[in-house]
Amino acid sequence: LNSPFARDIAHHIHPQTNLRLHESEGPLLIDRGEGVYVIDADGKRLIEGMGGMWCTSLGFSETRLADAAARQMRHLPYMQVFAHRSTGPVIDLASQLTTMAPGPSAGECMDKALFACSGSEANDTAMKLVWYYHHAIGKPEKRKIISRRRGYHGTTIASASLTGLPNMHQDFNLPLTGVLHVTCPHFYREGKPGETEAEFVERLAQELESLILAEGPETIGAFIAEPVMGTGGVVVPPEGYFARIQQVLRRHEVLMIADEVICGFGRTGEMWGCERFGIQPDMLTCAKQLSSAYFPISATLVSRAIYEAMLVESDKLGNFSHGFTYGGHPVGAAVALETLAIYRERDIVGHVRQVSPRLLDGLRALESHPLVGEVRGVGLMAAVELVQDKGTRASFPSARKVPGYLAAAVQRRGVLLRGRDDALLFSPPLIINEAEIDIILNAVAEGLDETL
Ligand code: PLP
Repeated sequence: LNSPFARDIAHHIHPQTNLRLHESEGPLLIDRGEGVYVIDADGKRLIEGMGGMWCTSLGFSETRLADAAARQMRHLPYMQVFAHRSTGPVIDLASQLTTMAPGPSAGECMDKALFACSGSEANDTAMKLVWYYHHAIGKPEKRKIISRRRGYHGTTIASASLTGLPNMHQDFNLPLTGVLHVTCPHFYREGKPGETEAEFVERLAQELESLILAEGPETIGAFIAEPVMGTGGVVVPPEGYFARIQQVLRRHEVLMIADEVICGFGRTGEMWGCERFGIQPDMLTCAKQLSSAYFPISATLVSRAIYEAMLVESDKLGNFSHGFTYGGHPVGAAVALETLAIYRERDIVGHVRQVSPRLLDGLRALESHPLVGEVRGVGLMAAVELVQDKGTRASFPSARKVPGYLAAAVQRRGVLLRGRDDALLFSPPLIINEAEIDIILNAVAEGLDETL
């Protein structure tokens, strides 16, 4: 009864977990990590096919990151960046991120970086900056934010409101008023019979414009989107989607916020999802792979126009009154700098481009399986959508938990994946090699046959 297993059940609340089920099943205890593998308390090696939570890009045993953290902890373990203080690592990181991140027009980069510790905080910050900016430019009523159903932007009150997943709202009295959701750009599920992909894109652009006009453009402050939806099921937008959406946004002076918390730093086979999908954002949020998850750190990057408005408002109020104790933590910044250095030295984007066809082609070969409705993905993020009936595309009733069974079958074969709603999701560490990808593919193929 004193085992870690029993004490976890006795004392620990697990987020995003079926609590009743946890009481009977208990935790999967992970002891240590090695490359793309984690090793459980019984010594079993499992490939972490989700890279933790889409974040351990450099795997689980990158000693350079551990050394960078230890060096910085010994040198200067903490200093706030409130009230004019700063540190070398934070300055270097802000310079690097703003010069590498795409801005609101071709060839333009971002201007300034504001740091926090999680993707949720970065998106909360972006939401507050939408309001702050519109106050500064004399349009304080321009404060509603449009997001998309199935988008995931975090779990704090504001970012969970932006999130478009009903279970993140139920019984929390969310979303906050002033957050609106439009259709998810998933052609397989949301396309109408006979509609082409181009017509689908046009319909979604018109839906967005109708919503803006119905609410009044003078009340709409921003639109937020992941370049590729992650948690909502790896939804790769159709060709031309973001170009059409951004046309509508510009027409009504609505800011574009790119949530690069998953896509940023190579996941899609480009450094940024924005580059892959032609997005020109006014603000960009990033986290996760920024430090390969070895230290919690996130950033909200803003364009020059946004920063100049912030200056005006800070003048007016005497202060820019937002920020977190641990935002701009020097250890997080040092780990992020080392992560970015490794990405450059090992050409992580080139590596993703080289190995990702192995994963995507391998998964597409499973499309003929009777349980598989659609395989989708880009770079090293993918989803296999399971259906009860391929012809009608009918999903399994959620009570049958088929993606969960498949994930369990795959886990018995030594691979950790996440089954969510109707899909099995893939987001392995970016350092994965083709032999390790083959292990994942074989586990999924066998798991599908076992689940049938
Ligand atoms: N945005 C996206 C796209 C995410 O996937 C996540 C987390 O999965 C978040 C924001 C929230 O990040 P965090 O869990 O660090 O608060």
